[in-house]
Amino acid sequence: MARIFLLLAVVLAVVWWLRQRAASRHEHDAAPRPAPASRKAAEAAEPMVQCAQCGVHLPRGDAIAWHGLHYCRRSHLPDGPEVPGQGESDTRP
Ligand SMILES: [Zn+2]
Repeated sequence: MARIFLLLAVVLAVVWWLRQRAASRHEHDAAPRPAPASRKAAEAAEPMVQCAQCGVHLPRGDAIAWHGLHYCRRSHLPDGPEVPGQGESDTRP
């Protein structure tokens, strides 16, 4: 008779363990889903531009606009008398 109770206890323990595992797996599946979607939306909000000097792509907000072209850093601006002194303003024609 004691063996039946022992067997019942083992079965209940296994069922409880499986349910705990399923619940924790469900939480792991549900939690990360909203994060990539919102990150994708944030990335899509700002268009990417290409540096006219080295060709690297960067968000338009981080780029330096100069004569209709974009540059990743001031040192990539074309040399010459046109280089502005304070220069990160957009001076498109
Ligand atoms: Zn560059």
